[in-house]
Amino acid sequence: MPELPEVESVRKVLENSLLHQKLNRYKITDKRINRFNVLNPKNIGVLNDIIRKGKILQFKFENISFLFHLGMSGRLALNSSKSKHTHGIFNFENDILLFDDIRKFGYIKILKNDEVHNHFDSIGPDSLKLTQSSKNKILQKANNSSVEIKKFLLNQKNISGLGNIYVNEILFLSKVNPFLSTFELTSDTWETIFSNIRKILKKAIKNNGTTLSDMTYYLPLGDYGNHQNNLLIYGRHICFSCSGKIDKLFIDSRATYMCYKCQK
Ligand SMILES: [Zn+2]
Repeated sequence: MPELPEVESVRKVLENSLLHQKLNRYKITDKRINRFNVLNPKNIGVLNDIIRKGKILQFKFENISFLFHLGMSGRLALNSSKSKHTHGIFNFENDILLFDDIRKFGYIKILKNDEVHNHFDSIGPDSLKLTQSSKNKILQKANNSSVEIKKFLLNQKNISGLGNIYVNEILFLSKVNPFLSTFELTSDTWETIFSNIRKILKKAIKNNGTTLSDMTYYLPLGDYGNHQNNLLIYGRHICFSCSGKIDKLFIDSRATYMCYKCQK
């Protein structure tokens, strides 16, 4: 499932190619991908910006925005060939953007620009752009909650952009047991977690995201990510820090990797 580093890597490629191009026409061919839309605007104009919050991309035109959520298996591809999983086609002046999604958990949402903030306000602060005030809000929520830290970080309403792979990585690097309840964490531990969120995400973006062995994630021009070669604990059997055995457990049926020695 594409997480913040994958979506940001996709954003950068699309920004380089599509910015300032006119969208001549578009078509969303699948009902489920189109499920939120009442608008079907024509004459969209020029793409002015591609903005990311959490795992969502906003294509901002003069009056209208398209929001893309890649869900579990969504992909944005440039000038590639259509398949039976292509559910959206965007004909720009010089390039064609395809939205493919095998499992159809993703969506394309069409909103007026002034409605986008309502949508974005419903999710928590972007995990790469945490301010002191957004950290305080997260702490306040965490101190009043008994949910496991791993679940807390995966909930996009608390903080946005993190998914299963990077939460595993962040908690390992922070030496935090994923089963701890959020109210049990000290403010020092939270500082460590916040700083490691930044560290891990930055590095993963530099590596263009993680392509696992299922090969579902690739960049809009067809390249794969490289961060799978830098994962600290996800998918591993032996702890690189203490050489102990890594356990694979499940929280909410999500694979949870942990080293009992390192993550007390
Ligand atoms: Zn260890």
